[in-house]
Amino acid sequence: MNRRGEPFYSYGSYLKDKYGDKVYRIGVDTGFSCPNRGKNRLKPGCTYCDEMGSRAPYLGDEQTLKKQVENAMAFLKRRYHARMYILYMQAFSNTFASVKRLKEIYDYALSLAPFKEFIVSTRPDCIDGEKVDLLSSYMKTGIDVWVELGLQSSHEKTLKLINRGHGLKSFERAFSKVKERGIKVAIHIIFGLPGENREDIMDTIKYIAKMKPDGIKIHNLHIPFDTVLYMETKMGEITQLSDLRHASYTVEALRRIPPQTIVMRITTDTLKGKLALPKSFMGKADFYSLVRKTMMEKGLNQGDMYREDF
Ligand code: SF4
Repeated sequence: MNRRGEPFYSYGSYLKDKYGDKVYRIGVDTGFSCPNRGKNRLKPGCTYCDEMGSRAPYLGDEQTLKKQVENAMAFLKRRYHARMYILYMQAFSNTFASVKRLKEIYDYALSLAPFKEFIVSTRPDCIDGEKVDLLSSYMKTGIDVWVELGLQSSHEKTLKLINRGHGLKSFERAFSKVKERGIKVAIHIIFGLPGENREDIMDTIKYIAKMKPDGIKIHNLHIPFDTVLYMETKMGEITQLSDLRHASYTVEALRRIPPQTIVMRITTDTLKGKLALPKSFMGKADFYSLVRKTMMEKGLNQGDMYREDF
């Protein structure tokens, strides 16, 4: 257990250790698209991607960046008496523009509140040296900068099957570029992708563990309506992980990652009404409790199966 008495290093604990209080993420949709969805977000992209492109469910239909930030801050102050915030560019690929345009948008967004950290979510094939330089320049203003890189699986076959549009080489290049500049990296993965069993999932975990990322986000596969994956599921080609199975894989995965890697997420959120499958999955708080309880009862800890020489 860590010094907070937790069996894994949660994102909430990390933020509390660092800032002494809760810090709230404000997820925004900046209007960027993604190379895999084309300029107008109209191409199908990854087979599980719907028209929201991982947009935060609570954003609703709000469009302007300023309004998104204002509304989120007002809500967080009212509900949680929030005092500190993180700017989180979450939807689609937030490096998919020219460096000049990116700078305009980043500068503007960061001017909307005194954010403590800046998180940019993107794809490995959508980030280069110039963009990384731009991102690292914000560290000079005293804020922490994170890049969240989507990987989903370490199996080329799966990446092809889900139409990710990039391979492992591209991911490795992007990861190194970002790390070289001192930017923190969180890696996204999905459990329960088509054709993957427990062994495949743990291969992905071992692959990631070797890279010692600053953070990891584990998702259970969500299949929204209007996606290629939903059609494939209807045709009986895909089975889904139950919540208990996802919990057991999550526990095993946490044991295999470095103890210092921050666990930023272990389930997925999708807007109500958009999610086709899974039809039933326990609530997020209950799921976190289940994973914590299972680990504590069995005396298991994050990293207790991690080996540098995997
Ligand atoms: S990278 Fe993200 S936004 Fe782009 S197609 Fe895949 S899931 Fe959708």
